[in-house]
Amino acid sequence: MKGIYCLVIEIPKNMSTIVGKLGKIKFEKGYYTYVGSAQNNLEKRIERHFRKEKKKFWHIDYLLENPSVRIKEVLSKKANKEEECKIAREIEKFGIPIKNFGCSDCSCKSHLFKINDIKQLKSLFII
Ligand SMILES: [Zn+2]
Repeated sequence: MKGIYCLVIEIPKNMSTIVGKLGKIKFEKGYYTYVGSAQNNLEKRIERHFRKEKKKFWHIDYLLENPSVRIKEVLSKKANKEEECKIAREIEKFGIPIKNFGCSDCSCKSHLFKINDIKQLKSLFII
């Protein structure tokens, strides 16, 4: 299946971490969501995010490598790649973007947001 997904991520305490070329980023404790897409094998992509040990390739890999950072929930739906950025722009309306995170190849502010309202996020996944 090809599609888009949002990882709901919990950062249990304030921390800072090096995110590849973005350098050191401070994260306040709370919930975050990361928007991604997979043009083939969505399941495998999501499963990869859960693995702690892997070669770091995406910005999100640097964040998820931290042992205290957890994926709480995964929302996904069948969609074309264009939907990925549309969803990111919807989340921007209620989330705080972590500048330039996960969006090196598009014009979004970010694909990672700090969010307070998971319900609002879920409503974007009701087809
Ligand atoms: Zn984008």
